[in-house]
Amino acid sequence: MSAALLNLYDLTREQLRTQFARWDFSPVHAATLWNYLYLGLADSFTPPAMPKLPAKVRDRLIAETQIGVLPTALETASSDGFTHKYLLTLADAERIETVLMRYTGRVTACISSQVGCAMGCVFCATGQMGYTRHLTPGEIVAQAVHVARALRPPPPEKCHVIRDTASAMSPHTCHVIRDKPAAARLRNIVLMGMGEPLHNYDAVMTAIDILRDETGLALGAERITLSTVGVVPGILRLAAEKRPLHLAISLHAANQAERAALVPVAKKWPLDELMAACRTYSESTGRRIFYEWTLIAGKNDTPAHARAVGELLRGLPAQVNLIPLNPTNGYTGAPSHTAAAKAFQHVLASEFKLPSTVRQRRGIDIAAGCGQLAVNETSAN
Ligand code: SAH
Ligand code: SF4
Repeated sequence: MSAALLNLYDLTREQLRTQFARWDFSPVHAATLWNYLYLGLADSFTPPAMPKLPAKVRDRLIAETQIGVLPTALETASSDGFTHKYLLTLADAERIETVLMRYTGRVTACISSQVGCAMGCVFCATGQMGYTRHLTPGEIVAQAVHVARALRPPPPEKCHVIRDTASAMSPHTCHVIRDKPAAARLRNIVLMGMGEPLHNYDAVMTAIDILRDETGLALGAERITLSTVGVVPGILRLAAEKRPLHLAISLHAANQAERAALVPVAKKWPLDELMAACRTYSESTGRRIFYEWTLIAGKNDTPAHARAVGELLRGLPAQVNLIPLNPTNGYTGAPSHTAAAKAFQHVLASEFKLPSTVRQRRGIDIAAGCGQLAVNETSAN
């Protein structure tokens, strides 16, 4: 993929139309191309692909643009087959992770917004890597397209998936399995892969506009969740722009000192400023916020911690998503036991009427980039 070529996935439908106007091509051809990209999930201009485009349009596209498909460096499947993780290669050879989670009636893509992350959360594999660069809108869109493509029933000769019982980065026991052909549509997106989406605000919002376009992938706003570590200016901007999406805040601790020990950027955007921004967001959008809480044994998983989060969120439209820690090499903490998670939930529900979910880690054997192999959320309250 050449960097000099215009990546078509970078463009909203309107921008594509403008580009065609600049080339003196009809908007009808722009619409046709858009359909090929997002309904046909085309990955090539070469005939017989895109039969409805005139030769002069096709020639120009071949000369000046590219379809920014991201090649798969590695694909792994969890032992239960519900979760597939893709390591995708960018044009500059950097790699990002995209995860497809498929449970009954619910297909979700977990996508990345950056290569690495600058926020440095101590328990996070991406944070431990450090920051390399932002993703472009096209690189974000390409991940969703990749998953949408993976959901199409595969031709029989392409039915091989590597099953990796350890980590996608360092496979040690791989064998070929047969993927079950099953058509499904991508309906949910969570921006919970590598990176901090509000640190890459403009590219993420352009990508969301493209993903939501009703004539394309048509993802519903109520099915897109953006998770942030708590970038206060970004939250306030989301509130002011009333962006239609769900917001998740990675809280992890209910007081400033404990939070700053886990999430270093809490020193820049302290907890009281973060909570004020959350209040503004909920008031201006009328939306409930999800608060994520990575459960670390003995560190933030006791009933006292649950009471502290209950107090902190009192009066706010909130749901708490508890995620047992996914162990990483760079952090010594251990995941909480199921009993601790249940007790935490019980305090939230019985003392604060606060709804919560615990994410089961059924896909842990393929190690999600951010510990996000969320399978089968179990609800309380
Ligand atoms: N940067 C954003 C989104 C990506 S991380 C954010 O921090 O919100 C998505 C979620 O995974 C966050 O809630 C994050 O705290 C959590 N997470 C990261 N590493 C984890 C791990 N090792 N175990 C469990 N959850 C983890
Ligand atoms: Fe970045 Fe989110 Fe990981 Fe923190 S948890 S380092 S913000 S990706």
